[in-house]
Amino acid sequence: MEQLNSPTPSEDLAKVEKRTGEAIWRAHRELWHRRDFKKSLEELDKLYQWKLNQGIRNHYPYAFALVRESQILAPQERTAAVLNLLHYAEKMAPDSPQVVRAKAYWLWKEDFPSGKNIWQAIQAWLKALALSFTNLEEALPQWANFILLLFFSFTGVLVVFSFSLLFKYYSFCAHHWQHILGGESYAKISAIIPFLFLSIPFALGWGWMWLFIFWFIILVIYASRADRLLMFTFLLLLLLWPTGVRFYASFLVSFGGNGQMEMVRANDNVYEADLYPKILALAKEKGRDADWWHTRALLERRMERYGEAEKSLLRYGELEPNSPAYFNNLGNIYLLTNRLDKAIYFYQQALKLSPSQAEIHYNLGQAYLLNLQLKEAEIQFQQARQLAPQLISYYTSISSKNPQRLVIDLPVKKLRLLKSIVAPSPEREEMAAAIWDVFWGKIPLKYGEVVLVLVILALILRQKFWGGEISIRRCSKCGRRICSRCVRSMVIGHQCAQCLHTFSSYSIGDPKIAQLKKAEVAKYQKRRYFLGRFLSGLLPGAGHIYLGHVGEGAFYLFISFFTILKIIFWPEWIPRPWPGEVVLDLSGIMIVTLFIIAFYLFVQHRVAGISLAKGRGTFGKSGS
Ligand SMILES: [Zn+2]
Ligand SMILES: [Zn+2]
Repeated sequence: MEQLNSPTPSEDLAKVEKRTGEAIWRAHRELWHRRDFKKSLEELDKLYQWKLNQGIRNHYPYAFALVRESQILAPQERTAAVLNLLHYAEKMAPDSPQVVRAKAYWLWKEDFPSGKNIWQAIQAWLKALALSFTNLEEALPQWANFILLLFFSFTGVLVVFSFSLLFKYYSFCAHHWQHILGGESYAKISAIIPFLFLSIPFALGWGWMWLFIFWFIILVIYASRADRLLMFTFLLLLLLWPTGVRFYASFLVSFGGNGQMEMVRANDNVYEADLYPKILALAKEKGRDADWWHTRALLERRMERYGEAEKSLLRYGELEPNSPAYFNNLGNIYLLTNRLDKAIYFYQQALKLSPSQAEIHYNLGQAYLLNLQLKEAEIQFQQARQLAPQLISYYTSISSKNPQRLVIDLPVKKLRLLKSIVAPSPEREEMAAAIWDVFWGKIPLKYGEVVLVLVILALILRQKFWGGEISIRRCSKCGRRICSRCVRSMVIGHQCAQCLHTFSSYSIGDPKIAQLKKAEVAKYQKRRYFLGRFLSGLLPGAGHIYLGHVGEGAFYLFISFFTILKIIFWPEWIPRPWPGEVVLDLSGIMIVTLFIIAFYLFVQHRVAGISLAKGRGTFGKSGS
């Protein structure tokens, strides 16, 4: 291996870098304060060129500073200069969703409510959305928060639904016990037994989730078809729980400084003063990790420590001898240290492994150009342009003799970094198990899926083979309990015998009794109607669940919980790694509020629809 010395000792280089950047930045600030927008923008362009010369792709501090600068300007001073400011913010950190989002908000706000820039604003907003999923540094906290939000909303619906089951079927269960114990005289004790019975998981300290699952298993035999369907849906969704916990734990562990985020930053060419020592500090645990050597080499090459970068790449090549990135990036080192023949050879090897990678064609073109093989160079550039026109035109536009702008490195693929973040590790498992234990108590995480599948089977068996000897339901007219044992016949339909008699068109019963019955029905239906409306008003979806439209109700409840939790906690759960959070302004709040009101009214309208349909049926016939 050849020993090379870096052209400049990089500690000094870092100082020079910083000083130059800061000097340009101060010049810009001063001009901006004097409202000399044109000249201040010239300084910004210098800053941008400086950033490119350092090989930095994302310089978040300057980008966020520019966003803040654009926000603190008084409204009457809002000019096109602000938009330029935001354009430069985007140039300083092209991968930052927050910067693009700030631009989207500015475009939106600028001429609210005329909507002249609305299309541009939406485009920027969509771009920010896409970036927030592809920029790992931003995406991971977002996903972690999203998992939490989904999880809490889901659990909220589960809890409400479980209690609604308890509310609906507790008396059935008590009545059932009355039959088991043998008659009316046991009414009191059979009202208490289900309570003791249903709190067994709680008493044994099994954990919250088992309490609800236990209720499902016990109450399934009394449940209506719709309730049973929702129970099974919930259990199937619960099967995702263990995976969700593991993902969540992976993200938490990666924020906790296991080196993954540092590698992401090195890979994205993020500016951070002490990134290199942080990467080096991982040497012990990452010594056999190809991605670590790869990202380390990227950083060293950016710092113009070519000797170290070469060594790191060679280690990377040992671990992954067939990686095109290894050949390409090592080729770049050779090119930058004037070993053109070697560079050309390495690019050619890289192309054998990955013939349609535009970056490699471009680099080979540069090597040919430096070697004065103009014809060959032109062929390579053309191929590169055909393969990735946008990318190549960008690199052509910034190309210069500067070593950072001459050739293109191949970074680690994002998906690969993501995979290693969510890969199983002892730390991750420990964290996941700790979260799991809070909710699932005695059953360890590793049996999570198996036990849940067993529960689903148990529920199916319970419903099919046990408890079928009794059938209890509630009369849909008067709300009285109908029990197949008490009436000594099959329970057919959803009305009690009294109601069937009273409301059939050829009723021959006592008119007095019929009158009383009708009054009872009217009272019950009225109570149902008002309670349904009241619950719905309190929490959209709860009314639907109470009135038996459980599927629709669960859906609305989920949206309600999701919205409420997002408003209360976002983004507090996991702090984002970057400063400069964009605050939602008035027009944004107005839109969100409008959505919430529209949703709320829609659910009230739907719940009113249910009650009226039933009420009309009942009152229509009884009214005469
Ligand atoms: Zn009835
Ligand atoms: Zn009975």
